[in-house]
Amino acid sequence: MIREFSHSIAQLFPYKVLHGMVKPKIVAPFYHTISNVAPLHIASLYPVYTPEQFERHLEFLLKHFEPTISTDIPLILSGKRKSKKPALFLSFDDGFKEIATIVEPILSKKGIPATFFVSPNFVDNRDLLFRCKLSLIVSRLSGFEDKSALTGVLENITGARNIGVNQIKGIVYGLGHNDSDSIDTIANAVGLNFAEYLKIHQPYLTLNQLLTLSSKGYTIGAHSLTHPLFSALLFEEQLNEVQQSVDWVQQNIPNQPKLFAFPFTSHGVDGRIFKHFIDSNEPKIDLMVGTSGYKPTHNSRFLHRIPMEMSLVSAKARLKSELFYYLAKALVGKHNDKLGYGKH
Ligand SMILES: [Zn+2]
Repeated sequence: MIREFSHSIAQLFPYKVLHGMVKPKIVAPFYHTISNVAPLHIASLYPVYTPEQFERHLEFLLKHFEPTISTDIPLILSGKRKSKKPALFLSFDDGFKEIATIVEPILSKKGIPATFFVSPNFVDNRDLLFRCKLSLIVSRLSGFEDKSALTGVLENITGARNIGVNQIKGIVYGLGHNDSDSIDTIANAVGLNFAEYLKIHQPYLTLNQLLTLSSKGYTIGAHSLTHPLFSALLFEEQLNEVQQSVDWVQQNIPNQPKLFAFPFTSHGVDGRIFKHFIDSNEPKIDLMVGTSGYKPTHNSRFLHRIPMEMSLVSAKARLKSELFYYLAKALVGKHNDKLGYGKH
């Protein structure tokens, strides 16, 4: 609510005024996919920009920022490297196939570097992110006649009674990473087969496509093995998700820096994770990234990125919103999260 209000107020200012007041060293917009039609495994989760809209985003970003590769970010954040324009770090999460078919040709045409954060468990279409499964289920619901059979299944799973049609979506979206059995049962009830969907639609990049992207100069980073919400995991589980996905990239794709993007959010991540991977003089990971918008931190190996798909707006409108929100928080003294890794 506050964010929406702040977004509206921000639009009253010229972009240059907000940019001049904040003086960002770096901005890091991130996306998931670009497509003329949102794929069903995404359509119920967040909006998707068309190639034309994405190109307009890039044109605006290039006007104000200089594209930067991931290995330069710690140098820029620590002040060891300076450039005329502030830096642009562009990235995409989850490794969807449109990276190879739509995104890469646009970026190559414009000569813009980018990092693609992937979850090894989804590469080669071995599994589907649980949120994507929920999106598929919800997309099935509108045309699904036998709602009473479905509410029966949901009542069995949740133990609740008299579930109404209106509650179905809410219950489905409330399912999490550990509810894979329930998700499969519900999918079955609505006639969905995830293995078949993966086989037919091949939503993810293959290892071969990742190798091609890296040979063209793009960077591949890790995005956890299974894409869980880290705040719901034990410390050891968080550690494994980071370490094993980073190891997978190192073992499968030559000459990559060690990069990690937290799935969903870094909010609620065990503080020992940062200490273990990036706080020492000999960091085990070159750069970790979060999703809390424009928000500088005190560690030159941690960067918050700006989620661009909250609603379909111009890059200018999105950045105005982020810079204004940052200024507004500064005014009320809300930048007191000492490390700045997680708080929103
Ligand atoms: Zn993700």
